[in-house]
Amino acid sequence: MEHHIIAEMIEPGGDTLKEWHMIRAGEEEAMCGRVIDLSAEKLPSEAWGTDRARPFCHTCGALFLREVP
Ligand SMILES: [Zn+2]
Repeated sequence: MEHHIIAEMIEPGGDTLKEWHMIRAGEEEAMCGRVIDLSAEKLPSEAWGTDRARPFCHTCGALFLREVP
């Protein structure tokens, strides 16, 4: 299963990051169930756990950990 990290902005289309979420490739909502603007900035899933991907959604992080060997 392929994943991406996607930004949730405080305002849709805005410049201020709220937090990062994990999303499965081809899906339209984050693993925590939040609907994300798919045009927002993305990071590769390898960035999870790095400073680049902070703050990170706790729910997405926990679900991702269970899904990735
Ligand atoms: Zn999330």
